[in-house]
Amino acid sequence: MYQHYSRPGPEADSGLPGHAVAILRVQGNSPGIYIVDVNTDYQRLWGGSREDWLGAAPVVVQKEAINQQIFAQLHDALNPLMNVEGYFFEGIGGLEVNRRHDGTRRHIEWRITAMGVRHNDDITLVLTQRDITKQIEKEAQLERLATTDMLTGLVNRSQFDAVLKSEFSRHHRHARPLSLIMLDIDHFKAINDAHGHDVGDQVLVEFANLLKSNLRKADCCARWGGEEFMLLAPETELEQAVQLADKIRVAIKNNFFPTQGSVTASFGVVEVHPNEPIKSVMKRADDALYLAKDKGRDQVSSGDLFSSAKQA
Ligand code: GH3
Ligand code: MG
Ligand code: MG
Repeated sequence: MYQHYSRPGPEADSGLPGHAVAILRVQGNSPGIYIVDVNTDYQRLWGGSREDWLGAAPVVVQKEAINQQIFAQLHDALNPLMNVEGYFFEGIGGLEVNRRHDGTRRHIEWRITAMGVRHNDDITLVLTQRDITKQIEKEAQLERLATTDMLTGLVNRSQFDAVLKSEFSRHHRHARPLSLIMLDIDHFKAINDAHGHDVGDQVLVEFANLLKSNLRKADCCARWGGEEFMLLAPETELEQAVQLADKIRVAIKNNFFPTQGSVTASFGVVEVHPNEPIKSVMKRADDALYLAKDKGRDQVSSGDLFSSAKQA
């Protein structure tokens, strides 16, 4: 139905286009959309020279099938306006991710709007395409900064709060098991006192790396405060959560930390009860952790439900 667009010349692959613009014409009685002019940024984005593009069908996005859908959408929007004097076309637009030959992804924002008055049956349109990759990357970076603990790269406390809320509502809706592990490095103050704050920081980074390498895909691990961490384990019952905590406890105990040598941690583990409020789960995890500390540290406790586990 629509003319197949050709892509003249080699694809542009260097430099980033600013604002690619193509002036398009649609004829009332014909389904074709063709280019009447393009700017240099359009040529940089899609390759080819201005002359190559004149009379050709426009490229709105990289995937041809999607271009065809956009043309169909455009005709659907324009058709009712064809015989109307002083029509108003508010335009269509979208955001598309293109992959270039070097594998990099470009985010292209596009928009097609009407230009000027209609001549006979012709409607003139303006296609604009803008590379907003930098903006999107900046936003992603800001989001990472806002949700990540700077020292360890783990999820930070406010992001963990958000994850906790969403996992709790999922748990309550679908009655799936969910466990929480609260862990705290033993005698961390003594590490700082003996070797200085910088060594303490190195221990925290190494400790966080050990946690990351022992996590399963769905687990969410956060730095909750100074030397205190949280691990939320979806689809995990108490017994499995205790096993996971103990596996981490042993990995920490067997690791050689720079300067300090050996480090241990204590764990409080709880499984969320049906409809239990977050506050109550946190309190139980905190109590369990306190029990693990009280019983001599380097151990996993699940409060009074499970006996605390200690291995050599
Ligand atoms: P316990 O076994 O009872 O947990 O003893 P602890 O010494 O680990 O606990 P305490 O709460 O007495 O001390 C925690 C210390 O952690 C005190 C604080 O200065 C230190 N700390 C908190 N945040 C950081 C940090 O970002 N870097 C470093 N190096 N130290 C930190
Ligand atoms: Mg501590
Ligand atoms: Mg602490």
